[in-house]
Amino acid sequence: MKIYISADMEGTSGVVHAAQTGPEGVDYGLARGWMMAEVNAAIAGAFEGGAAEVVVSDGHGANGNRNLRLDDLDPRAELITGRPRASGQMEGLDDSFSAVLFTGYHTRHGSTGVLSHTTNGQAVANVWINGALVGEFGLNAYLAGSYGVPAAMVSGDDLTIAEAKATLPHVEGVVVKRALGRYAAQCIHPKRAQAAIRAGAERAVKNAAKLKPIAPSTPVDVELQFKDTGGAESARRVPGVRMIQPDTVVLQCPTMSEAYQTYYALIGLWPVVWGGWMKG
Ligand SMILES: [Zn+2]
Repeated sequence: MKIYISADMEGTSGVVHAAQTGPEGVDYGLARGWMMAEVNAAIAGAFEGGAAEVVVSDGHGANGNRNLRLDDLDPRAELITGRPRASGQMEGLDDSFSAVLFTGYHTRHGSTGVLSHTTNGQAVANVWINGALVGEFGLNAYLAGSYGVPAAMVSGDDLTIAEAKATLPHVEGVVVKRALGRYAAQCIHPKRAQAAIRAGAERAVKNAAKLKPIAPSTPVDVELQFKDTGGAESARRVPGVRMIQPDTVVLQCPTMSEAYQTYYALIGLWPVVWGGWMKG
């Protein structure tokens, strides 16, 4: 049984501020360690649940998706690191996997929760898949579902678990902190967070065969609202992309995989306008 882990950083216990989530921040090194330990806990739980193979995706955009230190990774697992990648946080996922586990996840842009955002906090306001407003968890769960792979576990703050369960009621949710706002939380000790993730991952993997993947119907309609009109103006240059509001574009793709890759590509066009690069 192959298990895929998509690891983000904002939903890690202890993380509440941008000073912890990027290399320019004074506490980045500290938070990187917490993130790595939570990922290793999920790997351990996955193997205890029956995994034969575990692939981890460094899904946090800061530092060019190079947040997890390979030396510190559980040697039984393999790591997808760096970018650009065609499928972002879910690069390498296909129908050979039995389940996806999400660690360090966060709520979508515009909702309460620690460091809430969707994919790129500077560029994206909202994204709808076939009319359903989704955050990173929902988007990634849909992509996994389109391969027949269930989203089996998610860890993060309490509101992230609530967001995930609204989409997928049977997902194993591991709460590692209680959100007190966008930049504050009541956190549990890293060791307790890791123990909870390890146990949750084991349960999730044991239960994976019973979970029903969620896949959007095809063709897939994507509606993408940017935080400013420049983002939409940049995106609409791509054939097949139509502007419906000054800050919003729509497109239709034959598969969820194509919709996902195009979404990432359209966001990637945004910083070209400003001469910058995605910070994640
Ligand atoms: Zn992130």
